[in-house]
Order: sequence, then C-alpha cells, then structure tokens
Amino acid sequence: MFQNVNPATGQKLDEIAEMDDAAVESALARADAMWRQWRISTLEDRTALLSHIGDAFEGNKHRLAEIATREMGKTLKSAVAEVEKCVAAFRHYAEHGPEFLESFEVQVAKGRAIGRWLPIGPVLAVMPWNFPYWQVVRFLAPAIMAGNVGLLKHASITQGVGAAIEDMVLKGGAPEGLFQNLPVKSGKVADIIADRRVAAVTLTGSEGAGQKVAEAAGRALKKVVLELGGSDPFIVMPSADIDEAAKQAVTARIQNTGQSCICGKRMIVHADIYDAFAEKFVAGMKAVKADDPMHDETDMGPLSSFEQRDTVLDQIERAKQAGATLLCGGAKLDKPGAYMSAGVLTDVPPESDIAKEEIFGPVAMLFKVPDIDAAIALANDIPYGLGSSVWTKDAAEQERFERDIAAGMTAVNQMLASTPEAPFGGVKLSGHGRELGPWGMHEFMNLKSVLLN
Ligand code: NDP
Repeated sequence: MFQNVNPATGQKLDEIAEMDDAAVESALARADAMWRQWRISTLEDRTALLSHIGDAFEGNKHRLAEIATREMGKTLKSAVAEVEKCVAAFRHYAEHGPEFLESFEVQVAKGRAIGRWLPIGPVLAVMPWNFPYWQVVRFLAPAIMAGNVGLLKHASITQGVGAAIEDMVLKGGAPEGLFQNLPVKSGKVADIIADRRVAAVTLTGSEGAGQKVAEAAGRALKKVVLELGGSDPFIVMPSADIDEAAKQAVTARIQNTGQSCICGKRMIVHADIYDAFAEKFVAGMKAVKADDPMHDETDMGPLSSFEQRDTVLDQIERAKQAGATLLCGGAKLDKPGAYMSAGVLTDVPPESDIAKEEIFGPVAMLFKVPDIDAAIALANDIPYGLGSSVWTKDAAEQERFERDIAAGMTAVNQMLASTPEAPFGGVKLSGHGRELGPWGMHEFMNLKSVLLN
C-alpha cells in the first residue's frame, strides 16, 4: 500500500494499492504486444491521439491540478499552469512530430544512403513528485509520436497523479497498453529495467536514484537518460535591470516552494550592485506568503513532505555551522502542514559542503563577487551543471556566460524555464541526454542507416 499524507494538513490521504508481481508481468506483456502494433501506426494516428490526449488534459485541468496539490502541496494555480503546459507539449508534438521523424539523405561515396527514425519499444519512465504531470508528459508525448509505448513508475507520494495521467491517456482514445502507470515501489524498478521487453529507461530525480537506475540500465546494456538535480547560479551584473532581476530571483527561488531542479538557487551578484540587489531581494523573500496551496493569493504552499522540510532545515543548520548567516526566514511555520518561510543565507563559505549542495526548498544563498571571472568560477564550482540565469545588458558578458558556464541551459535576462521547443538537460552530475524538441524524441529511437543502390 502507498499511504501518504497531504503535506498542507498532515492528514492521511486514501491508501493506494501497490501492483503485485503478476500484475506487473501482465502490464509488461501488454506493453510489448501494443508496441508491435503501435510501431507501425500511421503518423496521422499518432498526431490525432496526441491532440485528443491534450484535449482530455485541458478539459480536466482543475480536477488534475487538485490531485497534485493534495499529494505534494504545490499551489493550485501553479498546478493548473502545469497541466496547461502539458497540453502545449501534446500539441507541440502533434504539430511538429511528423517533421521530426522525416528521413534524410546522407552523402556517400557510392550509391545512396538514408537516415530513418524508427521506434525502439516500451520505455520506462521513473519520475519525481515536483512537477508530477509535466515531468511525465515531456517523456510521454514524444514517446507516443515516436511509435514507442510508455510505462511509468511515479514517485511514491504522487501515485494519484500517475493514475490520473493513465486515465487521461485512455480518455484521449489510446489503445490499452500504450501507456501504463505501474504503482510499484522503487525496489521493483531494477527488475523491470532488466526485463527483455523494456527497451530503455528515463529518470528525473536525485543523484542517488539516478545511480541506481543507471546501474540497472548498464547491467542490461540499455539506453538511459538522466535528469538529476542542480544548484543553478543566478548571476546579476552591474548593467542589469536590478528591479526586474531581484523580482525574478524571488520567483525563481520560491516557485514550487523551491523544489525545482532548474530554479536559481545561488544568487551571485557583482559587488557594485550587491547592496542594491540584496535589499530588494531580501525584501521580496520576506514578503513571500506561505499558506494554504488551494488559496489563490498564496505564493507558496508547504514542502512536498515533512521529511523534505526536515532535510532543508537541516541544510540551513549545517550552513550556519559552516559560518553562514541566515538573513531572514528559513524557519518552520507554526501551523499544521510542512510549511516553512522563504529564507536567505549569506556568508556561505564557497568551499563548504553546503555551498556545493542542492537546497530543494525555498532558501537562497547570496554571494558577492568582484568581477565576471569570479562569477563564472563560482557558478562552475559545484558538481552540477543543469541550468543558469544571467542578468546583463553587455553583449560581451552575455557571450562569456553562454560559452563558459558549464551547464546545459543558460537563460539571459530571464528566469530559466523549460519549453517544449528547446532542448532540456544537464552536464556533470546533473545527468546526461536531452529531453524535449526533436532531441528528446530521438533519444529513444533507432536511427537506421538504409543503404541503397
Ligand atoms: P528521488 O530521486 O528519490 O525520486 C525520484 C524517483 O526515483 C521516484 O519515482 C522514486 O521512487 C524513484 N527512486 C528512488 N530511489 C530509487 C531506486 N533506488 N531505484 C529506482 N527508483 C528509485 O527523489 P526524492 O523524492 O527522494 O527527493 C530527494 C531529492 O532528490 C530532493 O531533495 C532533490 O534534491 C532531488 N530531486 C530532484 C528532482 C529533479 O527534478 N531533478 C526531482 C525530485 C527530487 P519513490 O518515490 O518510490 O522512492
């Protein structure tokens, strides 16, 4: 059984039964049988299905959003926005999928050669709770378009979301077996990866889970895409619009109660404008309203669980022990639920462990640097390399950041956010492989060379 609590109230949610081994076996057999049909489906069938699934998500967005809010505490308005983003992703692949699958000619010395994109089979997605619809859909929409079929092992705390996604896919008219939610615990994942009917695996989550899944995929010699954590730099230079940068820095750090892999977590600010930025940023963080996620005026809900809040509070304590100052917030709130206030840490020694960790909660680290070289060096001085956000009107500085920040993504004068059209992924311990656009779809395809006379 999965027995979870609503992190906003601490009250128990309905139990959800775990799938037993016989049911997992049947699901794998269904996925395999369906793949044999779906791999030869027409592109028209695939695009029509994606559109209909998008419509099902759109028509049920409030109900879907409520499930996510109850299970992991995000604000209802942000959950609705997340479902709307999923609709956009289904429509993006419905519209552009056929062109992503076009064969292409290759120049060869003799005769002709063609590159052809073919599906590879059932793909297992091991997914986290933080964007419980979006993380799944950004794997699922391209998988359906590619001619693959999908299997989902969702996070233990968002099992209701996993079931709701399967329901929407069926409502959109998908044949049975095209996408199946497997309500299983993580101990079953390695066996599923090893099963000969599963072609590949994608994981979004922590480094630890990434290591386990990659290990299992490696043993079975199967392709794996990993989207892991990050501690993204948010760099502000003197030519930036300081008001806008400070406002966006607050939004970046508190969105999803700080539980986003690509939100700015380390605010790295040039000394010339440090005081002006810090004053506005700290004022913005102090004004953040942590309250009932169902209310429209709430800025951020609780953390996703009491354990997640304890982890963040413990990180703040360790930062203080390492010499950091807690400028504001970063404390438990006196109400039921896993709430805490948004916090800001300064004087974090750059060489300390905590400076190199991901804080998955609404707590920013604020650093002062003398110049762009120091900003880039500090930005890169962590084991992660997922996203980054840089604020400058100077073209030469923009070029330096684009070229020299060791990350999969750099957003200039804006907060970083994923979008269906652009590649998404990281370097170093943030993982490997890319999602979204044609690149995400091609990760799980067989690029066949066809040689002709
Ligand atoms: P996990 O990485 O543990 O969970 C992500 C997914 O992996 C879940 O479906 C989980 O299942 C599964 N999983 C966990 N361990 C294994 C395993 N050994 N084998 C197979 N699957 C596994 O995230 P947590 O919820 O524990 O969060 C911990 C930290 O991870 C966060 O504090 C944050 O730093 C990071 N994180 C990063 C995310 C991102 O977007 N990059 C998203 C979520 C977390 P189950 O839930 O059943 O354990």
